Amino acid sequence: VRLAELLQRYNTQFPKREKSGATIELSKQDLRRGLKKGTQRLAYQPKIDLKSGELVGAEALLRWKDPELGNIPPNHVVSSAERHGFIDELTLAILHQAVMDRAKLVAADLPINIAVNLSLHNLRMPDMVEHIIQIVTAKGDKPANFTLEITETCLIEDLATALEMLIRLRMNGFQLAIDDYGTGASTMQFLQQFPTTEMKIDRSFVVAAPLSEHGCAFLSTAIELGTKLGQVTVAEGIETFAQCTLATKLGCQQGQGFYFSEPLPLDAFIAWARSYQPGWLKQKTDLLICT
Ligand code: C2E
Ligand code: MG
Ligand code: MG
Ligand code: MG
Repeated sequence: VRLAELLQRYNTQFPKREKSGATIELSKQDLRRGLKKGTQRLAYQPKIDLKSGELVGAEALLRWKDPELGNIPPNHVVSSAERHGFIDELTLAILHQAVMDRAKLVAADLPINIAVNLSLHNLRMPDMVEHIIQIVTAKGDKPANFTLEITETCLIEDLATALEMLIRLRMNGFQLAIDDYGTGASTMQFLQQFPTTEMKIDRSFVVAAPLSEHGCAFLSTAIELGTKLGQVTVAEGIETFAQCTLATKLGCQQGQGFYFSEPLPLDAFIAWARSYQPGWLKQKTDLLICT
């Protein structure tokens, strides 16, 4: 049995994540029609420097509203696109949108880094690297202003190909993030080989950390490992003051989550960023760390 298959069976038998209900399957026609009409929208969620409270970047998250089926969660759209051979097209359309949106952010005096999620399947077609570079640089933007996020589970399935493409992307200047760190099964040896610049620690560790010493040990160790490997560490899914202060205390560099803001449509994101006060966070966390 192949490792990927075995892992999949294991995960089915011992599910680790919250139940998300049945998977919604989009047909080939739904996807084709959606892509043609530009059904894909992006929502932006801020990434905050935990020490200074500054806004340092945003992650672009896919939102898809089918005319008949309504809102479809992004991972369902992505898995349907993977199954029907539309994932490269979808990812490139998302990247294109993100590049145009970044130009609007720059014009609004918010020249922040934008993160876009890639799927494992995107790392199979060698051409993708050229397409990605082309889309980002077409109107004069730079790869260094973008972060490409790849989930850890994806990384281990198709190691050699994924590694080669990631190295090429990194050499062209892109920032690379391991997404949902801690939920896959990468050994330290895998981690050592990957040319990533950022480690996004999965929300489950952030949730567990303030609840027990056991939970805290995992978050603390993940942050320490990421830091020692020279990665930017990001705590995902921060919802509460306690999670925020603990991640900060443990030395995590950045945070993302509902505590700061939900993912927002571009215009709402710009409005949020304009009225955002970095000092707000620092005051709150300083208060707790002193006591
Ligand atoms: P992800 O990349 O790990 O994105 C973070 C997810 O956590 C997002 O869910 C976000 O809305 C959610 N989140 C953020 N803060 C909080 C919080 O404080 N609490 C909770 N409970 N959740 C929070 P979303 O937008 O539903 O996306 C789910 C996943 O779908 C993403 O996980 C990513 O793996 C995938 N995805 C989303 N957009 C894209 C895309 O454009 N391309 C690809 N390939 N995958 C995407
Ligand atoms: Mg992500
Ligand atoms: Mg994530
Ligand atoms: Mg996650």
